Amino acid sequence: MSTAARSLFSFEDTFVRELEGLYLPWEAAEAPDPRILALNAPLARELGIDPDALAGPDGVRVLVGAVTEADGTTTVAQGYAGHQFGGYSPRLGDGRALLVGELIGPDGRRRDLHLKGSGRTPFARGGDGKAAVGPMLREHVVSEAMHALGIPTTRSLAIVATGEDVARETMLPGAVLARIAASHLRVGTFQYAARLKDASIVPRLADYAIARHHPAAADAERPYLAFYEAVVEAQAALVARWMHVGFVHGVMNTDNVTISGETIDYGPCAFMDAHDPATVFSSIDEAGRYAYGNQPHITQWNLARLAEPLLPLFADQQDAAVEAATAVLNTFPARYEAHLARGYHEKLGLTGEPEDGTLGPDLLDLMHLQRADHTGAFRALAAVLRGDDAPVRALLPGDEARDAWLARWRAQLEAQGRDAAETADAMDRVNPLYIPRNHLVEEALAAATAGDLDPFERLLEVVQQPFVDRPGLERYAAPAPEEFGGGYRTFCGT
Ligand code: AMP
Ligand code: MG
Repeated sequence: MSTAARSLFSFEDTFVRELEGLYLPWEAAEAPDPRILALNAPLARELGIDPDALAGPDGVRVLVGAVTEADGTTTVAQGYAGHQFGGYSPRLGDGRALLVGELIGPDGRRRDLHLKGSGRTPFARGGDGKAAVGPMLREHVVSEAMHALGIPTTRSLAIVATGEDVARETMLPGAVLARIAASHLRVGTFQYAARLKDASIVPRLADYAIARHHPAAADAERPYLAFYEAVVEAQAALVARWMHVGFVHGVMNTDNVTISGETIDYGPCAFMDAHDPATVFSSIDEAGRYAYGNQPHITQWNLARLAEPLLPLFADQQDAAVEAATAVLNTFPARYEAHLARGYHEKLGLTGEPEDGTLGPDLLDLMHLQRADHTGAFRALAAVLRGDDAPVRALLPGDEARDAWLARWRAQLEAQGRDAAETADAMDRVNPLYIPRNHLVEEALAAATAGDLDPFERLLEVVQQPFVDRPGLERYAAPAPEEFGGGYRTFCGT
């Protein structure tokens, strides 16, 4: 190995230098036989890294955490706390993950390179610190799909098989995910910081988060309150985007809520097929806390948890601080509703500001009643505008309510006076045809775990271009077979 060579990466380490106390220096476990399973070449280029070099020995070495002095960085496990399913854990942290360093791309953006599955850390509690190939490839394909849908998300730079088996219900091949994120600051990072003896850590963390993610807050009259408001706004926008595409995150614990407003932690997540607010996929979410329809409510709950460690920064008097925080938090429902309505307005081909705000919700009610496929229904509406009623009739069968809704919708479209074909095309640009449907993801991961990466690569390619209809891909656009519907379960922490 060319240890003398200059590193492929030029890491920076502002988090480590500025926020001592929020991490522990730690080294990755050795990967006995690292082999790349997936490499995100466009993302590598975005970061200013040559994909071919990244696939070479010096790239792979860093992708499994074996950094050397030449790389100019030290790996750390980050500390954070979290409310998990409502119960508070004061010390979670990176149990199986490491921050490698920060990268500044040619676009000037600072982003974290972070590893998941790189071995036990002091935060591991009972865990083995490892990750299996299947769940890591799942994060790769689902986060790439989210990115292609235009939804803020962390991204996967690479998945590297370690050459080591990990013990789950059976022995499974192990892997490390290399994740790129605007940062890994979470609501849980603030919760963790508030418990540390050093009273300067919360304001320093807040200043760091402002500079890195919400710089406009620095110029506000009350910067910390403006920062809080910026996070509330980012999360309101994010959860609305999830709702538009039928995404169920599955584990919205406060340690999985970013300060940047990116989607993070693709564990038990899944896209819903039949529209139903009660949809839950996670095997451990028995009460439906993180059900599709509950996501906005839970986001607001999580944002209330963010206010708690920030209170001393809002005002000297506790009462005044609580009052100020509450006033900001109470803006969440209106912000969320505005994002939601604007998105559905667009999905229905409507232009201008949403006026009749009932069209979207009424359609969703119909879809729920008929268990219509969430993704398919919006594409079916565009087909109506092209003169083909068959798909919408199949999805929303024999019903006066459907025809009444269609008539109202068409009346609004006509009133805005845009050409029908043009409207249909605009709808197709925001309503995906291809999402990582659960049965396709499972099929791809099972094959990959058994050594065949073809179905995974194919699926990845399909969902990376979600809006463009391509012949031969009908099976990727079709809803799950009935037996896959109601009982589908995902498992986290694997
Ligand atoms: P998650 O459900 O992925 O958000 O993880 C919750 C917490 O469990 C985090 O502190 C993780 O680092 C930790 N964790 C999950 N799986 C493992 C594992 N296999 N080994 C050690 N820690 C883990
Ligand atoms: Mg997590």
